[in-house]
Amino acid sequence: MENPAMKTFKMVRGMRDFLPEEAEMLRLIEDKARRIAQLYGYKEIITPVVESYELLAAKTGEEVRARMYAFKDLGGRKVALRPEFTASVARLVATTMRNEPKPLRLLCIGSLYRYDEPQKGRFREFWQSNFELIGSEKPEADAEIILLTNSLMKSVGLKNYAFKIGHVGVLRGILSREGLAEDAQNRALQLMDKKQYEDALSLVKDAGASEKCLTLLQKMVKVRGSNISKVLNEMKKLVEKYKEAYEAVNNLAEILELVSEAQKLDITVDAGFARGLEYYTGIIFEVYVPELDIALAGGGRYDRLVELFGGEPTPAVGVAHGIDRIMLALQEQKAPLKFQGEKTVMVIPVSEALNQEALRISEILRGEGIPVEVEVMGRKVAKALEDANRRGTPYVVIVGERELSEGAVTLRNMEKKEQSTVKIEELAKAIRTGPH
Ligand code: AMP
Repeated sequence: MENPAMKTFKMVRGMRDFLPEEAEMLRLIEDKARRIAQLYGYKEIITPVVESYELLAAKTGEEVRARMYAFKDLGGRKVALRPEFTASVARLVATTMRNEPKPLRLLCIGSLYRYDEPQKGRFREFWQSNFELIGSEKPEADAEIILLTNSLMKSVGLKNYAFKIGHVGVLRGILSREGLAEDAQNRALQLMDKKQYEDALSLVKDAGASEKCLTLLQKMVKVRGSNISKVLNEMKKLVEKYKEAYEAVNNLAEILELVSEAQKLDITVDAGFARGLEYYTGIIFEVYVPELDIALAGGGRYDRLVELFGGEPTPAVGVAHGIDRIMLALQEQKAPLKFQGEKTVMVIPVSEALNQEALRISEILRGEGIPVEVEVMGRKVAKALEDANRRGTPYVVIVGERELSEGAVTLRNMEKKEQSTVKIEELAKAIRTGPH
């Protein structure tokens, strides 16, 4: 019989462990996102991982809905792990925060859950920093969300990232004019999101769209490029007869002009671009790097979601940055983020009798803000020094009887392989101002 004590456990498929280096990188990116939030005036809120299924399912779109971690809790409530932040934010804005003055700028950071098929850069638990700008329908608000996304990508050290930008109002404007119900529009846009243009067109045809419209859509989904004014002109020409779609192109043009005036960004406009989430009403965008074919961030305008959750009609625009994918992109670009090398110290007593002194001196240094790893393995000095070397610890404090009798210790600079006797009260300063 198998010995139950020998059983080992594996991680659940699609989940991930962050070992120290990765955990450090995740937290550093979060820090950068919080700094960007400060720079742009966003306040952080913390919402629950578990929300009602109904709330999360309302407008996320079929793709995400079908992949939710949904279950009944012990009280019989139908709940789910959040697959995105926007529904929670819209819930708050429709209820507790409904009387907050607008604009409202909110940041959420945390983990999300989707039963996606695991692959490179796609996990079932993943992390986002999510910015929402609530209460403005103006293009300046859309521009701000794009600009702060640029600031984050730049501040983590990403290179060659590019924005792909479209506007759901263009395709929806055409489809509404053709009398397509919202449901059929959603399905068509989701097929386009997956680049299944043929299927999308046959769905639109079956839903009763005219031949003229089909030809137009066929042309429209091919219009893309980084010569922004050329692409916008082509789009305008195509939708001349569709008022709402035409206005959507104008809105897109206004936003792009604001963005380009403020920053030089690498932008491709894509008229056939659609995103899986159903709640978008205006511009939509994603961020890519050449090394990966998955989006690092995605966002857009959603003017009707708060209303749908029982709030006042409230225009809003937001973006979610995929932290796992930003990490992956940084690794691919060999530009991993690092802490600004804090000087760490290892404190080693020369004998067990000095353990207590070693602890006392370690506490003094920590009190001065110096990170200390104290020897806890009972090793001889030579062995512990070997370990400090292997870890790249820059300084070692050796606590010995003779120095101690004069209120001093030995401070060793590991890189220079030099050491000197230093008074305990001068130790912190000596480490901080090193090298010796
Ligand atoms: P979405 O909420 O679908 O607009 O996604 C926004 C961003 O979250 C994407 O651009 C990705 O960077 C990230 N993301 C979405 N799904 C996953 C996943 N399964 N694994 C890792 N990151 C994801």
